[in-house]
Amino acid sequence: MLSREPPAFPEPGLPGATVGLGLEWQIAAALFESQLGILVTDGQGVVQRVNRAFTRITGYEPRDIVGRNPRMLRSGLQPPAFYTEMWRQLREQGHWQGELLNRHRDGSLYHERLDVTAIRDAQGAVLHYVGTISDITREKSARARIEHLRYHDPLTELPNRSLLQDRLQHALQADSRSGEFGALLLLDLDDFKNVNDSLGHAFGDRVLVQAAQRMRRALRAEDTLARFGGDTFAVLVEGLGRVPAQAATLAAGIAAKLRHALEQPFQLEARTLSCGASIGLTLFDGDSEQVDGLMREAELAMYRAKAQGPGGLCFFEQAMQVELEARNALEADLRAALAAGEFLLYYQGQFDARGRRIGAEALLRWRHPSRGLLGPGCFIQLAEQTGLIEPLGQWVLEQACDRLAAWAREEATRELSLAVNVSARQFRHADFVQRVLQALDAAGADPRRLQLEITESLALENLQDTVRKLRELRACGVSVALDDFGTGNSSLAYLAQLPLDQLKIDKSFVLELPQDPTSVLIVQAVLAMGHGMGLQVVAEGVETQAQYEHLSSLGCDVFQGYLFARPVAQNDFLAAHAARLA
Ligand code: C2E
Ligand code: MG
Ligand code: MG
Repeated sequence: MLSREPPAFPEPGLPGATVGLGLEWQIAAALFESQLGILVTDGQGVVQRVNRAFTRITGYEPRDIVGRNPRMLRSGLQPPAFYTEMWRQLREQGHWQGELLNRHRDGSLYHERLDVTAIRDAQGAVLHYVGTISDITREKSARARIEHLRYHDPLTELPNRSLLQDRLQHALQADSRSGEFGALLLLDLDDFKNVNDSLGHAFGDRVLVQAAQRMRRALRAEDTLARFGGDTFAVLVEGLGRVPAQAATLAAGIAAKLRHALEQPFQLEARTLSCGASIGLTLFDGDSEQVDGLMREAELAMYRAKAQGPGGLCFFEQAMQVELEARNALEADLRAALAAGEFLLYYQGQFDARGRRIGAEALLRWRHPSRGLLGPGCFIQLAEQTGLIEPLGQWVLEQACDRLAAWAREEATRELSLAVNVSARQFRHADFVQRVLQALDAAGADPRRLQLEITESLALENLQDTVRKLRELRACGVSVALDDFGTGNSSLAYLAQLPLDQLKIDKSFVLELPQDPTSVLIVQAVLAMGHGMGLQVVAEGVETQAQYEHLSSLGCDVFQGYLFARPVAQNDFLAAHAARLA
């Protein structure tokens, strides 16, 4: 510790001026020229010396400050009590350390870390105070930015899900005291995927920023608008009064305001566009409500709103709670079912124009322990939402490949092909192509007998990725069918880019043949277009002789439906096939 009166420090810029001094002072001198700003005062706090780093940090040259009190650096932003406490510590403990906001000579503010030590003589009288300072403005703003990012969405700068959850927690506590209602709205932009796909992600991002700004302006300052990622936003509103009906009306009014704000056309890169939104809404009054529960309620209401079509608004109702519980139970069952071996594949024959069985579509069934045999309508959507579709779809794929390999070993079945439905989540997986090829390889199945069925919405969700994966698969011999064709409303220009082998006309059109003129026209157009693109056309859901004849007269290539065969278990499928051959 420095305990003696220090000799004069070398003047800045005079190297070698320390020669002849004791080692202790050479070290002190070197320190004095360090990156840390150093200031030495006398026992009364009058500045005696400062180093170059001090000048760099504060803007003050030695001549500006030597002989004066460092008080001149004060920004006025620390209260007088701050300095009183600092001096008390210095007197009592001889040391003070802390952060403060000071003012640079040019008037700007900077954050500094200050460390002051009192140097006393043998009698304990203070001879000097030595302060070291460092500018921590950058460090502080980096820290603040990190903190900000933890709770905000970097694109829109809106609060993120974590911050919304915090605020919801507070709101619930406040409302249980005040007895007032609040509302949580979950808003999802309609058709945003389309914007992203057709105009690119950078453009999509700008739309999101605009949408966020518009919604923010439509709300009061005390309302929280958060972004949940993707095109989903959440709004937390409080103070909606104590009468439930009134609170509901107010909340619906806010939803309408948000929607109105989004619907106003706006200009982006010479394009005029507007956004629709589907909104789910739930009210809360703080009694016995939990953050997680509320979020799920709002989410469920939003799914409902979306199901109503673009621009839907849906309140959470108790009846949905029952559904929510059933869904939770189903989800738990579904998780266990795969491990318990409760899934199986049914096979529905596909026939050529002459009525010969040429293959089958594999259709998933769940032998539920208490509910009996369930079709995919009861669980596929939930499996998609929970991510279970990935292991489940993989199981289907492996099972189908094993089946193909077994068929190839028998004379009667060796020519049959097998179609497998692929879900979006499964297909989007980065390793999807490898997984298919591995499953084929592991089973020893011929890729040319495997067909994958994808849907329009899946295919167009990320056109580039789709095209790349389909090309790779087709290069290995796997063929691809576009399932449920005609139900989406995608443009033909997009579809034409897809490397396909087959179009499957959706059964809703087939079912209305030949009496419904619109369906007749659609089926005709699909056949003409499919053939024009060099694709095979498959009709699914063929139930009557009349439908078959109509399709047949139009040149349809492949038929699938109850008229020919229902989906059945593997043994029944083989038996039916053998009977036809006999
Ligand atoms: P899809 O791929 O369009 O399958 C055809 C559906 O139509 C099957 O329903 C089939 O039983 C039914 N169907 C066949 N012929 C007729 C008919 O003549 N009339 C009528 N009214 N219906 C007929 P299923 O088995 O209930 O499957 C429904 C959907 O579930 C499938 O539609 C497919 O999208 C999905 N799915 C089935 N298995 C799987 C699977 O393994 N993975 C995935 N991701 N989805 C699957
Ligand atoms: Mg299918
Ligand atoms: Mg289909």
